[in-house]
Amino acid sequence: MPDSRRVVVVGSGPNGLAAAVTLARAGLEVEVLERNGWVGGGTATREITLPGFRHDLAGAVHPMALASPFFQAFGLTDRIELVVPEVSFGHPLPDGRTGRGYRDLDRTAAAIGGRDGEAYRDLLRPIVDRIDAVSQFATSPLIGVPKHLAGPAIYGARSLELGTYLWGLRFRDEVAPAMLIGCSAHTIGQHPRLAMAGAGLMLSATAHAAGWPLPVGGSQAIADALVADLEHHGGRVRTGVEVTDLRELDGYDGAVLDVAVPGLLRLAGDRLPAGYRRALKRFKHGNGVSKVDMALDGPIPWTDPVLRETPTIHLGGTRAQIADAERQVARGRIPDRPYILLVQPTVVDPSRAPAGKHVLWAYGHVPYASDHDITERATAMIEEHAPGFRDLILASTATRATDFERAVSPNFAGGDFSSGAVTMTQMIKRPVASPTPWRTPLDGVYIASGATSPGPSVHGMSGWWAARTLLDDTNIPLPSLSA
Ligand SMILES: Cc1cc2nc3c(=O)[nH]c(=O)nc-3n(C[C@H](O)[C@H](O)[C@H](O)COP(=O)(O)OP(=O)(O)OC[C@H]3O[C@@H](n4cnc5c(N)ncnc54)[C@H](O)[C@@H]3O)c2cc1C
Repeated sequence: MPDSRRVVVVGSGPNGLAAAVTLARAGLEVEVLERNGWVGGGTATREITLPGFRHDLAGAVHPMALASPFFQAFGLTDRIELVVPEVSFGHPLPDGRTGRGYRDLDRTAAAIGGRDGEAYRDLLRPIVDRIDAVSQFATSPLIGVPKHLAGPAIYGARSLELGTYLWGLRFRDEVAPAMLIGCSAHTIGQHPRLAMAGAGLMLSATAHAAGWPLPVGGSQAIADALVADLEHHGGRVRTGVEVTDLRELDGYDGAVLDVAVPGLLRLAGDRLPAGYRRALKRFKHGNGVSKVDMALDGPIPWTDPVLRETPTIHLGGTRAQIADAERQVARGRIPDRPYILLVQPTVVDPSRAPAGKHVLWAYGHVPYASDHDITERATAMIEEHAPGFRDLILASTATRATDFERAVSPNFAGGDFSSGAVTMTQMIKRPVASPTPWRTPLDGVYIASGATSPGPSVHGMSGWWAARTLLDDTNIPLPSLSA
């Protein structure tokens, strides 16, 4: 695509917008086409229960907003207001104790106490101290040599420890292991597994390094900041436009697709070479999430006062209980007590609901394309740690795994919010084994979604890498992203 000047980006998720901003700043004429009537994909925020209650449709808490090299280069923290809570996550246990993930590793270790507190600190200290190098490594293709070796080497060794049968050896009590699996279970999969352990360690380390921020007003603020920058550099977004075939894009010089693997197969169809198509067809979807959003009449009456100020809460009990629930999901069953990730953003950001009211965001893991509605199970599990919670519910909206494709993004079809199973093999082959997996065999066509390296989460890195590959291929220098 040597003379490329007019580029289309299909999809306005964080990766599509990261690509669009990069290309517009490089001087290309960029148009983003978005199927939904709004921008943002997994970072959209909308009133889906009652007027005045703003709910994040997908991503709600954003460790990578601080740790992602793309967002650091973009200066996200200078463009939007982020609240970083003192406690990144809380994890109530069946015996009444709570694991508290402070934005301070020593304080967290002290709260765990005793030998396990020290073991937790020893596990995470070298990663927390090298968080930039580890983030750089974790957001780069796994095929490649990391720039700094010490951080990634320690991170890899610790992931190996937690991702194998050794995961039981470091701790004696329940609190620390529950906290670790609570972070690993942000990704769906069985435990212990290397990919789960790696993702969990990264999340735990960010919790104790810079913390887990929430954008004031909702995740939409991230998308809006990207769109503002895109428009400032001459680009534009058209919403309500679904691309169904690559032929519709023939008028452009290049295309960056913020679509998952099934989306690429649908759009490109027989135009893809047979070998590549076969490789894409081998790419496996992950299991799903079933989500509920609620408008609440008041704050959740958690028994532990610390949880009343903690936006992110992990429910599901001990490590053994969560591992068992995840095993059941992997076998295609709905666990009685699924792992529940709960976010109550209004405890730090009252702007998202009318005065005195609150919003709740929670999802549980379920098999791919399950039509199970998690509302009742989630309500009962919250009620165990917050008696009286049920009486506060003013309205609720369920998004079942089968609803995500229609209601949020085709990239989350079947509720697979990782756009492809998170396994070690698929973290290397994402979606194919290549140092530049964003380049498709079709001239001028790139794929940018979380189905590509470095994988899911709101970090913009897949989009940034895809745009960088396009710029490399056209000998256009990489632009600065800072305001
Ligand atoms: C319930 C849920 C909770 C999550 N929680 C978190 C969290 O707390 N923190 C976090 O970091 N991550 C979270 N994630 C993951 C995160 O949202 C995704 O990893 C991220 O959004 C992926 O970004 P993307 O740009 O690749 O795709 P998407 O965000 O899915 O964006 C793709 C966009 O492209 C559009 N599109 C696709 N195909 C077409 C087409 N053919 N024509 C036109 N438009 C098209 C879609 O409508 C969509 O807007 C969550 C996801 C879900 C579903």
